[in-house]
Amino acid sequence: MSKIYDLHSHSDYSDGILSPSELVSRAYEQSVNVLALTDHDTLAGIAEAQAAASSCGLDLIPGIEFSCQWNGRGIHIVGLNVDTSNKQLLDAVAEQRQRRELRTETIAKRLHKAGIEGSLHWVQQKAGKGTIGRPHFAQFLVEKGHVRTINLAFKKYLGAGKPGDVKNLWPDIEDACGWIRAAGGHAVLAHPDKYKLTRTKLRELCADFKEAGGAAIEIVSGKQQANVTQNILGLAKEFDLLGSLGSDFHQPQQPWQELACCGVLPEGVKPVWQSWG
Ligand code: AMP
Ligand code: MN
Ligand code: MN
Ligand code: MN
Repeated sequence: MSKIYDLHSHSDYSDGILSPSELVSRAYEQSVNVLALTDHDTLAGIAEAQAAASSCGLDLIPGIEFSCQWNGRGIHIVGLNVDTSNKQLLDAVAEQRQRRELRTETIAKRLHKAGIEGSLHWVQQKAGKGTIGRPHFAQFLVEKGHVRTINLAFKKYLGAGKPGDVKNLWPDIEDACGWIRAAGGHAVLAHPDKYKLTRTKLRELCADFKEAGGAAIEIVSGKQQANVTQNILGLAKEFDLLGSLGSDFHQPQQPWQELACCGVLPEGVKPVWQSWG
């Protein structure tokens, strides 16, 4: 029996809602053998996840999902199997935290200008020990009745061109790939189908990512249509990238991002884990 890998997931140290221990338990119940915790711009949940994983015999891969920008667009790069004590990586995480804090204040100010008050205190309380992201603002906007759904919160207030879209904040993909490599990890281009890029732009991104030291691409992200998988498989071959896969799990009750929902990596690409020692 081949192992079930899920190499992209979130805990309540970023915008997920389960604690690292709860996440690991759920992964175990869903028959995951190898799980990567990849919270947004933080490594803070890894130690707890590792402790929980070792007590149930699951392999926990230390990971992170960096927010970056490429030609002015937001791009996510996952780092897998990183050394969480690496100084360069830890410095980068501290920088990302500052960027997020600055962004949080900017978004709150902009919402205030738009007549929406009290978001800063609310998101800080909600995120607690974790990093604050736009999903926290989305939840605030829904709970205070400004919009009906999280999706509408992104459409109206947080998505491209809206108050939550703070420009020129994140590092380039070269920086993120460099930090991940410095920490002995593999840089993975996350959910390539989510960026709404044309085929031409997506190929440019893959070429630049490879050039920047990128190692792998997520062939499958969550529940995905077969033709999308085939397209990304083609990109992996063209740009000589290894293959990864992950649910991008954030919370229960989102079956399209449930742990283990990606199944196994399709044939025709070398799995990223084959390069791990
Ligand atoms: P941030 O890390 O603060 O830039 O927020 C990005 C996160 O917001 C992503 O990782 C998703 O979890 C979430 N997200 C992005 N777009 C949407 C959307 N339209 N609806 C719900 N969640 C979204
Ligand atoms: Mn997220
Ligand atoms: Mn992402
Ligand atoms: Mn993610």
